[in-house]
Amino acid sequence: MRVLPLLLLGSCAALVTARAPATVALAPTDLDDAGFPDAGLAEWSALGDAGAVVSQVFDAGDDLDSELTGGDEPGEEERAGEEPGDELADQAPSDAGWQYTLELSDEALAKTWKDALPALGSISMGFVQEGRLINGVPFPQGDGWTVVSPEATYGTRETVDFVASAIRQVKAWHPDAPPLRVNQISAREGGYLRPHKTHQNGRDVDLGFYYPGGETVRVREREKVIDVALNWALVKALVMHGDVQFILVDQRVQKVLFEHAKKAGEDPVWLDSLFHAGRGSMLQHARRHRDHFHVRYFNARAQELGVRVAPLLAERPEENIAMHRVKKGDTLGGIASRYGSSVSSIRKASGLSNNLLRIGRVLKVPLRKPCTTCPVPPLTIVPPRRLPPVPETAAIVTAPVSDAGVPDGAADAGIDATGAEVTASPSASR
Ligand SMILES: [Zn+2]
Repeated sequence: MRVLPLLLLGSCAALVTARAPATVALAPTDLDDAGFPDAGLAEWSALGDAGAVVSQVFDAGDDLDSELTGGDEPGEEERAGEEPGDELADQAPSDAGWQYTLELSDEALAKTWKDALPALGSISMGFVQEGRLINGVPFPQGDGWTVVSPEATYGTRETVDFVASAIRQVKAWHPDAPPLRVNQISAREGGYLRPHKTHQNGRDVDLGFYYPGGETVRVREREKVIDVALNWALVKALVMHGDVQFILVDQRVQKVLFEHAKKAGEDPVWLDSLFHAGRGSMLQHARRHRDHFHVRYFNARAQELGVRVAPLLAERPEENIAMHRVKKGDTLGGIASRYGSSVSSIRKASGLSNNLLRIGRVLKVPLRKPCTTCPVPPLTIVPPRRLPPVPETAAIVTAPVSDAGVPDGAADAGIDATGAEVTASPSASR
């Protein structure tokens, strides 16, 4: 068993930041799994010489959710979008060791992978814009929400539980809250999900807003018609009840939420860490996010498993799939020969009715041999949750968590709401 988590990881800055008090800004991109183009990473570098502004950074790498297409409704229309940069390059798996799936030795993992895959629970493979989902769970029906398109609302166990727990918390605070619209997360097996660029590996969730009376008010200036108190409660609950990486929402919506929270007497330092910490803010502006929240979660367990099972994929032919994003000039034949696959198997796996390829589409490419080109993300270190000061924290409602398909306790492994999983790591001794 490997016992040196973190020490060999490249980014010391991330370690230091992750151990800092919750009020210190944590840059989403420090730990990001390439949800952004290179410009984002460059912009975040110490020199900050990329000249990019936050909105550009988030726009470029984000999905295509739109006020017209992807926000309130399941997306109908694909829009042209910017291609993500080459952020997948240079991200080799770290050999630093595991910290969230320590109960599984390499041998046990290999055996379970081969013989009892469902027992591993959810696995988040690859990247949000080039990934897939193994053992995803459908978002359940519930009192406090409406699942808008169930076939596109599969997530990892962690993601689904985080979201459900947050909505239950809103209901606990505001028993009269109308059902929240839970929009798309991922397809059952992840991968490309129209019309999004991301949402591919069970960690991105689109949530509608709360409106007075419950009915969505479809106007452009949503910040003027939403139920601000309920939406603020939702943001607060999301942050408290899950390992949120960031929440994308238009800055005009952020403004009314912040003003409300301030007036409601929320801790100003905590609020600033959520709203006003620049690239480290939990809430980030993104275009086309004026009618919904887009929440991206860290999945301590599912992401770590995704890294660990990558070398085992060929042991299960049906899971031995490369994800290929179609680029200009690609042909099915060319892709098939590059991956050692076949046109017919790619078409079948990807649900293509003909040989036409759309640039930006991500194909599932069944492999005959172990994948040498599949992107494997770096190990994820989940930062401590940014909890409000103690009185509120003590009021957290413990939500029932279903554990179907997950080994006992697995869904919560390493996700201590106090952030203890980080402070207890070897980095603390540095
Ligand atoms: Zn989204």
